[in-house]
Amino acid sequence: MAVPKKRTSKSQKGQRRAHDFIKTIPATQICQSCGALKRMHHICMECGSYRGAQVLPRPASASSEGAAASESEA
Ligand SMILES: [Zn+2]
Repeated sequence: MAVPKKRTSKSQKGQRRAHDFIKTIPATQICQSCGALKRMHHICMECGSYRGAQVLPRPASASSEGAAASESEA
């Protein structure tokens, strides 16, 4: 049976277990465009922007913009 050569110190045990608690922190940040909570390095699902650039069409305001465009055309 394998037996540890040296006793694990409290410091060594703490350093090993330090990484066990990093995963509990959510990888989220505030969106620069709309201020909603979004995942880091991901497109904001509220406004569809990434780093200030509009990547996806806005889900909420897309309908109002389309209505305004249709009104101006008519
Ligand atoms: Zn956003």
